[in-house]
Amino acid sequence: MATTKRVAIVGAGVSGLVSIKSCLEEGGLEPVCFERHDKLGGVWYYTKDLRPGQGGAIYDSVVSNTSKEMTAFSDFPFPKEYPQFVGRRLLFKYLQDYAAHFDLEKYIRFNTDVISVKPSGRDKYWTIQLQHGNGSITTEEFDYVMVCTGVFNAAYTPSYPGIDNFAGMKIHANEYREPDHFRGKTVLIVGGYMSGSEISCEVARNAAKVYLSMRHGALFFPRIGQDGLSYEFHMMTRSVMKSPSKMAKTMEKISKTRVVDHQVFGLQGKDLHTALKSIMISDDMQDRLTQGQIKPVVEIKEFLQNGVILVDGTILNNIDAVIFATGYKFSVPTIDDSILYDESDNAELYKNIFPIRLEHPERLALINIMCAIGTLWPVAELHARLASKVFAGKISLPEKTIMQGDVDQKIKNMKNKYFYVPGPTHMDEVAEILGVKPSFWRLLLSDPKLAFAYEYGPMVPYWYRLQGPGAWPGARDRILNVVENSTFA
Ligand SMILES: Cc1cc2nc3c(=O)[nH]c(=O)nc-3n(C[C@H](O)[C@H](O)[C@H](O)COP(=O)(O)OP(=O)(O)OC[C@H]3O[C@@H](n4cnc5c(N)ncnc54)[C@H](O)[C@@H]3O)c2cc1C
Repeated sequence: MATTKRVAIVGAGVSGLVSIKSCLEEGGLEPVCFERHDKLGGVWYYTKDLRPGQGGAIYDSVVSNTSKEMTAFSDFPFPKEYPQFVGRRLLFKYLQDYAAHFDLEKYIRFNTDVISVKPSGRDKYWTIQLQHGNGSITTEEFDYVMVCTGVFNAAYTPSYPGIDNFAGMKIHANEYREPDHFRGKTVLIVGGYMSGSEISCEVARNAAKVYLSMRHGALFFPRIGQDGLSYEFHMMTRSVMKSPSKMAKTMEKISKTRVVDHQVFGLQGKDLHTALKSIMISDDMQDRLTQGQIKPVVEIKEFLQNGVILVDGTILNNIDAVIFATGYKFSVPTIDDSILYDESDNAELYKNIFPIRLEHPERLALINIMCAIGTLWPVAELHARLASKVFAGKISLPEKTIMQGDVDQKIKNMKNKYFYVPGPTHMDEVAEILGVKPSFWRLLLSDPKLAFAYEYGPMVPYWYRLQGPGAWPGARDRILNVVENSTFA
């Protein structure tokens, strides 16, 4: 009789939940998920203050910037009555409903911090050191590990000359919860990416003035276009995603849906490619700009006691508070760096999942620890499905040289093009290995309507449940009715 293999899952956010489910679906794997906090949900578990050890955090009014049909788990759609873009309370409820539906919570050990994951040198490959809620420390052995600690794990704040002398308030965006603290104040927000733009708009409604400092400029997208549908429905189709130039043009077109001229308002980057590094999703930005409540400015050169000098020499005085929406460092603190990084600090991960520097890359999987354009939830799901198939011995990883080729190509693309990997393209790649990527030509012969949707429709997660292992009978219907299911009830 085959023995059950133990799988340690570190973290019970979105990635941890799909990892537990995928292990259970494979059979022969016993998932044990460790979560340092007292609830599941990771980033989407909201608390008024940062929890000890917390990295990424949301604010009170946060609404997803990816639509529900693109964000859903592939076999568990959001309810029809949920809005197209979902607020934090319903997102958290959706995760709880998912865990309840697939009975996942009983595999989670809450209030348990994974301190380290180290090769044991024995048949049970990994030794995991745990710190429990009462402070006690224990170790356990596992056959496989799935690291689900999130890409927003360690907040990043740049250092500037003079910053220690600045007398005003300084916080990272992960500490921001609501705008009341900033009523009547002059606030400088650093970083024009997702959180930076949304927080700027919220704070600007009641602040005396908001400056938004950006290095490259940005393209800003409203959540929905003139057809009432998510920007993703135009951008994240196979027909667009397979051509970088078509993608860039589509993004520029979406950013012009609103009448604000990026140049006039100082939002325009040096060129389109640089601007693509910074996409603001904001429905409010146009009004805040035209009402003079937000003033975009260039990068900061140095801090003064009550203000800053910008790189173009402008001095901004009487700044009461600075919010650093400057993102997160790529960080996987439980795993030794030598397992993940080459000498130039590039993470060497086959398909962004398996660390090829490890003697047995098939023993460890990083789930969704990557920067992708688009929603991260279905990426997590595909990573987890592939990793558990590999752990269960149903799929083998290729030769080291092939994996090295994949890694080299990814590193080159990251450096030459965009910092971010296009999520949907990456999902198709993983789905192909899993045997769940539909073939356009086969669809054309058997189901032309679906073939058309495959090429020109949004790359919703349900595509990866249409056929092959783990197929879900509701997938076809959900794909063909994606527009109807997106619109408000
Ligand atoms: C403000 C904001 C808005 C966002 N909006 C969107 C959006 O609209 N759409 C979208 O797709 N994504 C969005 N994201 C990205 C978000 O990170 C993902 O949606 C998703 O939550 C990532 O899930 P995860 O499980 O990979 O990581 P996380 O949610 O970060 O979960 C990681 C879990 O691991 C636990 N953990 C970490 N280290 C340890 C350890 N050593 N031991 C035990 N437990 C540990 C943490 O406590 C946490 O519960 C947003 C993020 C932020 C911050």
